[in-house]
Amino acid sequence: MKKVVIATLVLLSSLLLTVNAQDSVQMRHYLKDLCSPAMHGRGYAYNGDAIAANYIRTQLKRIGLAPFVYPDYYERYGFNVHAMEGPVSATLNGDTLRPWEDFAFAPHTRSANDEFTLLPIEPETLADPRALKEFCNKNTRHLDKSLLYVDLSQCEDKKTVDKVNEMCHFMHVWNGQYEFPGLVIGVKEIPVWSFSYAKSRCDYIIAYVKAGLVKKRNSKIQLLCTNEYIFHETQNVCAFIPGSAVPDSFIIITAHYDHLGQMGEDVMFPGCHDNASGTATALDLAQYFKDHPLRYSTLFVFFSGEEAGLMGSFFFVRDSILDFSKIKFVLNLDLLCGGNDGITVVNAKADNTKDFYNELVKMNEKKHKLKEVRARDNANNSDHAPFVMKGLPAVFVYTMGGRTGGYHAPSDTPENAGLEHYHRIVSLLIKGMEKVCGGM
Ligand SMILES: [Zn+2]
Repeated sequence: MKKVVIATLVLLSSLLLTVNAQDSVQMRHYLKDLCSPAMHGRGYAYNGDAIAANYIRTQLKRIGLAPFVYPDYYERYGFNVHAMEGPVSATLNGDTLRPWEDFAFAPHTRSANDEFTLLPIEPETLADPRALKEFCNKNTRHLDKSLLYVDLSQCEDKKTVDKVNEMCHFMHVWNGQYEFPGLVIGVKEIPVWSFSYAKSRCDYIIAYVKAGLVKKRNSKIQLLCTNEYIFHETQNVCAFIPGSAVPDSFIIITAHYDHLGQMGEDVMFPGCHDNASGTATALDLAQYFKDHPLRYSTLFVFFSGEEAGLMGSFFFVRDSILDFSKIKFVLNLDLLCGGNDGITVVNAKADNTKDFYNELVKMNEKKHKLKEVRARDNANNSDHAPFVMKGLPAVFVYTMGGRTGGYHAPSDTPENAGLEHYHRIVSLLIKGMEKVCGGM
């Protein structure tokens, strides 16, 4: 009798765990924590990514995963990047502008604490280095107290707009060459933040202002921000579940946990879709595969530095703490909120990944019923890329449709996540892994 009771209890608890592992309640819990103000947007300001790494490690310990890097789960590395901390403000002709709504600093701006005159310049002039030199020679008076003001909101020529944007992104190339202290770009909408061009020291102020607010010539703008160019020490968090049959070979599940951090003390980028969602899903999968181990060992790697240009995944592959010949498959999870229109699998049709993709399509038709499981050729747009470059079987899965939060914006919050399809997405991924990578 006792044996029957114990067996029933074991069966019940394993059923409960199966349900829990794919339950969006746990997912919501992770998202809320990862996007909370205590994580500072998981970026480089206020060491947000270190706080997030510690949280992930705590969850992995709780679930019962062993460290893959001894003794503390962390694979440490670092890179140069900008970090904006402290007060950020702007006033235009005496009127206070609202951070992010009315104005923003670029993530690679130099620090600013001064008043400047806005000196209008045509986009075509700014985009042409020779014309720009001439413009500077003509306007030498007070150039050191002026920010060039370029209104892109009215510019219809896409090529010119692209050229000006590119110049802004790579302003560090012009360090020391121009006397003006920087640029203000008039825009319809504040553009998304990206750190891929914030890894070099930049000597210029770069700020965006809603163009409709700049109403007169010779406007005065007062700008304040502290943006330090630092060597940022960070870490990938690595943990594993031993395989049930071939423990010396590995399936790797990856997600980047870093995001854009903060624009000073008042504006935070929660990064729910990008990529608290993939991080939370990977934690959920850790719970599931802990209870239902695959034949091969499952290695979970939570990368930092993705937003600065896949720094964590490139370091992981370069560091080669794992023998590549032992890697059977890599599943990278990035941007997993929503999913009303299904999922996309990047690098789905390579010789070494197509079995996984075909299996997902087959099972989706039979059971999971996502609107679409779309195949996309490889693109080096997330952390699967360094693995693909090494010839390893790696795919990147992201969702399509069904969420309202912005992208790389403060509105990317858990409230806008849209998790109705979460259960079906994650159970389809589990079934795909079990089929191709060997279940219990
Ligand atoms: Zn991103």
